[in-house]
Amino acid sequence: MPTVTTQPRAIVRHVMWTIAPDQEPNAEPMTYALQCVTCSEKSERSEDWGEPQGWGLAHSGRHPSHNSYREEITRPWRTWMKPQPGDRS
Ligand SMILES: [Zn+2]
Repeated sequence: MPTVTTQPRAIVRHVMWTIAPDQEPNAEPMTYALQCVTCSEKSERSEDWGEPQGWGLAHSGRHPSHNSYREEITRPWRTWMKPQPGDRS
């Protein structure tokens, strides 16, 4: 019976990934918007949370019974591979 020898064709390693809010200088900006709970109308999305708040006040001024809002915050996140023991930096 012939002897068969096999060699590994690929080396697979397990890597750990980390995820966190992206605070790099080139990260997308954090943005805010408000949505009226009563009629679902939304403010413009803005990097300045004061703008959606101003929109909410004006919206309630036009529709006095619309006085409940939900805030939508868009925050950039990033992932990276955690260095493994023996990795070259
Ligand atoms: Zn409304």
